[in-house]
Amino acid sequence: MTEAPVLVIGAGVQGLTCGVVLAEAGMRVRVRTAERSRGTTSAVAGAMWSPPMADPPGKTQYWATLSHAEFTALARDPDTGVHLCEGRIASRTRLGEAPEAKLIPDLRHCGPDDLPEGFAEGIRGTVPLIDMPRYLDHLVARFREAGGEIQRSAVRSLAEAVDESSTVVNCSGVGAHELVGDPGVYPVYGQLAVVRNPGVEEYFMEITGAGELISVMPHGDRLLLGGVKYPHDWGPGPRAKVREGILRRCAAFDPRLGDVEVIEDLAGLRPGRQAVRVQLERYSGARVVHDYGHGGNGVALSWGCAYEVADLLADGGSA
Ligand SMILES: Cc1cc2nc3c(=O)[nH]c(=O)nc-3n(C[C@H](O)[C@H](O)[C@H](O)COP(=O)(O)OP(=O)(O)OC[C@H]3O[C@@H](n4cnc5c(N)ncnc54)[C@H](O)[C@@H]3O)c2cc1C
Repeated sequence: MTEAPVLVIGAGVQGLTCGVVLAEAGMRVRVRTAERSRGTTSAVAGAMWSPPMADPPGKTQYWATLSHAEFTALARDPDTGVHLCEGRIASRTRLGEAPEAKLIPDLRHCGPDDLPEGFAEGIRGTVPLIDMPRYLDHLVARFREAGGEIQRSAVRSLAEAVDESSTVVNCSGVGAHELVGDPGVYPVYGQLAVVRNPGVEEYFMEITGAGELISVMPHGDRLLLGGVKYPHDWGPGPRAKVREGILRRCAAFDPRLGDVEVIEDLAGLRPGRQAVRVQLERYSGARVVHDYGHGGNGVALSWGCAYEVADLLADGGSA
């Protein structure tokens, strides 16, 4: 009897990147997803590779490093949706230590003249910026080209998943709260305004523990303005009041953003968790590798996590 394909749950950035890594390594892979990839949280992300400052620290540094190399290589082909962009990451208080910042080739600290009003510390440098809808399309095409199959259907339980395949990769994002009953997974509501770009070429990202922040991500004619981080808020969105706040903060930050045409509002649930979970579990005789709980760093960690998933499957023996 032919063995069933590896079953990946989820077609966000984690599920698709795992799918690509496993299929390109020669495995038969099926992705099952409740939503099409353009309907996931991943499609809403800004998105930038930035030093993650997430737990577990040693692991996330390693995953961020691998992902940085992949995104830098992908940026050579504009059709992937990835490009390299200069800009600033700044804080109104202290920026904190992020060892992976050293991967930014032209990294320098912002002098007082290079900091927006009210900001205390910042760094300037070039990082990969990822236009998520286009990038997810690129991953889908690459996955299919490697022989992967995508099926639009929700998985009701892990028991159902392991009935279908003896090797399961769980990339269900905030859906892991229900799918695996992980009480540590919670939503962190986010919202962005997509506006016609009035000529902004640099990114800006505010680091803060507060719920409201400023983020500016240029993708050619489209400019993504943010944002909010509301833990334990399941939505729904987008909300007019949040949009108003975003536009107000961004206009105060850069006068060019004072009168912009809003094309679209985007909202999504970051999969919050105290630490990212990439772990092999034996479940009813099957191998289940979990890969979820990336919070606001799921894109920046995606390639490193997918390689770790592949390593766990290679080291984990047969079911
Ligand atoms: C406004 C905003 C800005 C962000 N900016 C950045 C950024 O700049 N950089 C960065 O690195 N990250 C950023 N993030 C975070 C990033 O988007 C997430 O960490 C990442 O998308 C998580 O990816 P994922 O694949 O784990 O989850 P998701 O994209 O949520 O995908 C989960 C998948 O699992 C499927 N699923 C769930 N349950 C089931 C089930 N029972 N059966 C079948 N399928 C199921 C869903 O349908 C979906 O396909 C941002 C997020 C937001 C909201």
